[in-house]
Amino acid sequence: MSRNSDVVVIGGGPAGSFAALKLAQMNVDVTLYEEHGDIGIPSHCAGHLSIGGLNRLGMFPLPEEIVENTFSRATFYSPNCKQFSVRLERPATCAVNRALFDQYISRLAQDAGANVCLNSRVKSLTFDNNIVNGVTVKHNNQTVKTRARMVIDGEGISSRLLREVGLQGLNRQMLVNGIEAEVENTKNIDLDSVELYFGSEYAPGFYAWLIPKKDGKAKVGLAAKTGNPKTCFEKLMTRHPVASAKLQNSRVVRTVLHPITLGGPAPKSFSNGFLAVGDAASQVKSTTGGGVIFGMTCAAIAAQVTSEAIERDDFSSEFLSTYQKRCGEALGFDVRTMIRMRKTLDAMSDEKLDRLTDMCARLGLEKTLRSVNDIDLQGRALLHVLRSPRMLTALGYFLLTYLIGNP
Ligand SMILES: Cc1cc2nc3c(=O)[nH]c(=O)nc-3n(C[C@H](O)[C@H](O)[C@H](O)COP(=O)(O)OP(=O)(O)OC[C@H]3O[C@@H](n4cnc5c(N)ncnc54)[C@H](O)[C@@H]3O)c2cc1C
Repeated sequence: MSRNSDVVVIGGGPAGSFAALKLAQMNVDVTLYEEHGDIGIPSHCAGHLSIGGLNRLGMFPLPEEIVENTFSRATFYSPNCKQFSVRLERPATCAVNRALFDQYISRLAQDAGANVCLNSRVKSLTFDNNIVNGVTVKHNNQTVKTRARMVIDGEGISSRLLREVGLQGLNRQMLVNGIEAEVENTKNIDLDSVELYFGSEYAPGFYAWLIPKKDGKAKVGLAAKTGNPKTCFEKLMTRHPVASAKLQNSRVVRTVLHPITLGGPAPKSFSNGFLAVGDAASQVKSTTGGGVIFGMTCAAIAAQVTSEAIERDDFSSEFLSTYQKRCGEALGFDVRTMIRMRKTLDAMSDEKLDRLTDMCARLGLEKTLRSVNDIDLQGRALLHVLRSPRMLTALGYFLLTYLIGNP
């Protein structure tokens, strides 16, 4: 199980496995440790991904069995169920089976030469003169040390190992508690549309979602900043005027609870001999909580910087800061825009959300939004649609809400 390698990757989620894939494709000797016996299980995620993002990563089309549905429409329901629907020109998102998706990336990584070790929990990092030089791994009740020139940490939201190098964990103020469920026997669901439900009664500080699958089942979930997400979920299923009509008699096949980080990327995600990727580095969209595409985008950058570090034989924090810089160049503008949008949304009362939704519908904003084809790069998407006077009016309202709180 244990052998020394140039690079150790911690965690077989999409970020860790994609880093391993990219490294293996560059002929770097890489070993990935995953604590569970199977990649992708248990899954905690709705698996709603943008097709544009997958395309940019060279991951689309995906094998058919992974894709549960594709969508060109999203319908937003405000707290008092005012409706605003956007239909894009072509399918812009898809729902993937997260376990199969993660297993697919892992298989690609292994085919490219990565060594993937399951049932292998990284207990701690090891150091030589303050430089990370490997990990201790527990496998079958045996704990062994393995050496590496670089460690890439894709351990997910716990970000426990990250703190061993003195990096900040996640911004706890910006965590929401998520619940994700698979349901069957739904009624009258529109297979072509993702539905989003806002309101402090059902999803305080975030929103709830219904993602239909082609087989008639659906993924239903929400996140909440306060209160118990299970109670909110019960309410959504049984009392929400729109959602409960579709879900009241459905059977919940499984539920998973897991936090989501909305604070935007960690200010520093590198140290001597060490880089963090994915949720561990909070590489998640602050607006939607989607972290798969951003995590994989940064994982590809981490792999590139790691391969350059190996070539230069320079694993210093100074050189590895290139990673943070390049992630900022790739995503910084969008990240900053989304953090602002999140803060604005957080400042809005239910009544303001009702008014905003109503205004978007009355201004005919769906016509302007129809041409958006990338929902990941939301800063750039916003710039694109701002050319429309309709959008400027809505943005004016949005900004006033943020600046003076009571337009
Ligand atoms: C309810 C909910 C719904 C979501 N829906 C979406 C969505 O629709 N779209 C989207 O883009 N994002 C979504 N997300 C966010 C998304 O799930 C994460 O951003 C994404 O999984 C992060 O990938 P990752 O590889 O960084 O971490 P993870 O997927 O969490 O993977 C980390 C891996 O590391 C392993 N690990 C941890 N510690 C160790 C250790 N010490 N040793 C070895 N292995 C270890 C874990 O077992 C795990 O396999 C959702 C999140 C939640 C909670």
